[in-house]
Amino acid sequence: MPSPRWVDTHAHLTHSRLVDRVAEILATAAAEGVIRIVSAATCAEDALAVTELATNSSIVRAAVGIHPNDTHLAAPGDWDRIVALTENRHVVAIGETGLDKYWKDAPFDVQLDFFARHLDLAERLGLPVVIHCRDAMPEILEFLETRNRPVKGTLHCFTGTLPDAQRLMALGLHLGFGGICTFRNKDSDTFAELIRAVPEDRILVETDAPFLSPHPFRGKTNEPARVAVVGRFIAELRGWPEDKCSEITTQNALALFADRIDGSP
Ligand SMILES: [Zn+2]
Ligand SMILES: [Zn+2]
Repeated sequence: MPSPRWVDTHAHLTHSRLVDRVAEILATAAAEGVIRIVSAATCAEDALAVTELATNSSIVRAAVGIHPNDTHLAAPGDWDRIVALTENRHVVAIGETGLDKYWKDAPFDVQLDFFARHLDLAERLGLPVVIHCRDAMPEILEFLETRNRPVKGTLHCFTGTLPDAQRLMALGLHLGFGGICTFRNKDSDTFAELIRAVPEDRILVETDAPFLSPHPFRGKTNEPARVAVVGRFIAELRGWPEDKCSEITTQNALALFADRIDGSP
């Protein structure tokens, strides 16, 4: 096994930009030391595809759910299909769910309804939840804090402030860092400070492939192999050797997205 080793905690391997090359993408990722990829679904049909992919691949695990921007497209019965898929032990998480106020297609009350369903399902099954947030951090924090229950899971592709991070971590959440943390802009120094300040047991790395390729690949189709680029960037920010960063983030990911396949919880 190559060292260091990484877990890409958020990718979309069934996206049309990746799905035809999955075998090659997985081989490239493995060569970079990626030992596991959590592939997140965006709708019921995609959840089935993600679960099938996970069932047929040793390093892929599935997150099943309906993306907030797809909630208004969900047909009657789609939610039941998601619930049924959780019986497959290659499903290790619920999502992605959350709230998105950037894209306006899905009415906000529909997003809230589905967000609550995902949270309740994850809690009932003891699985982590994968939360998407775009231009909706105050609403997500208010919703979760009003709900007033611990949340096991990740706020994927986190881009908020340190107070936001502290409130999410107080609820029990991990924070997923992806390509955005490598982008240079007016906020990058503040964000670097945040990454240095997050307790090491809450840090996860991810790609969100095919989106958000890290620097210097920005704008190109992203792949799980580039989780190593994100990991090396965080290692440098924290002053950690690469091996230390990979072990910390990999242990965090394996503990949160615990395997259900070999009899482990
Ligand atoms: Zn997302
Ligand atoms: Zn995503």
